[in-house]
Amino acid sequence: MNKGKLIVFSAPSGSGKTTLVQYLLNEKLNLAFSISATSRQPRENEKNGKDYFFLSNEDFIIKINDGKFLEYEEVYDGTFYGTLKDEVEKNWQNGKHVIFDIDVVGGINIKKLFPERTLAIFVKPPSIKVLEERLTNRGGNSQEDIKKRVQKAIKEMEYSSDFDKIILNDELEESKRIAFDYVNKFLNQ
Ligand code: 5GP
Repeated sequence: MNKGKLIVFSAPSGSGKTTLVQYLLNEKLNLAFSISATSRQPRENEKNGKDYFFLSNEDFIIKINDGKFLEYEEVYDGTFYGTLKDEVEKNWQNGKHVIFDIDVVGGINIKKLFPERTLAIFVKPPSIKVLEERLTNRGGNSQEDIKKRVQKAIKEMEYSSDFDKIILNDELEESKRIAFDYVNKFLNQ
């Protein structure tokens, strides 16, 4: 296995971590995005094999039993998300470092698997109220879904101290600058 590094971005859904991850992917940092598998339905504009590998629950469970996942979780009741081993290996073989946009528990699990090679960053929303507004404005999630995500976010905040770095995502340009500095430093050390 070659010596690629792992950059984990975890945060409550709606904290803005995806925006930061997309920004970093466009910088010259030699990063490749780890495309997760999920059993949820694609949102409008999401493409299979680009945003996620969309699987049925049944196929997801088959892959769990075949040991195909580095980590996986039932993030919401009946909805699985996970990182495929092959996906990470493929990126390392291509000489890339791998960046993850995954939930808080998944992020901690990746850090445990590769403690030295992982930089784990927690992205914190300015407040739960702002988080709720962002989720509502984003569209694509039902009221019930938003409620579930907010409840989960409240719990997830407690895990922030398990991460190497915390970014308070209040002002986006400032968060981008901080994220770039952390990642750039880690990849060059
Ligand atoms: P969404 O449905 O908004 O795309 O994602 C819901 C949550 O699942 C987000 O917190 C997202 O980061 C997380 N997630 C996405 N991929 C993975 C994964 O591979 N593993 C884990 N544990 N969580 C993931």
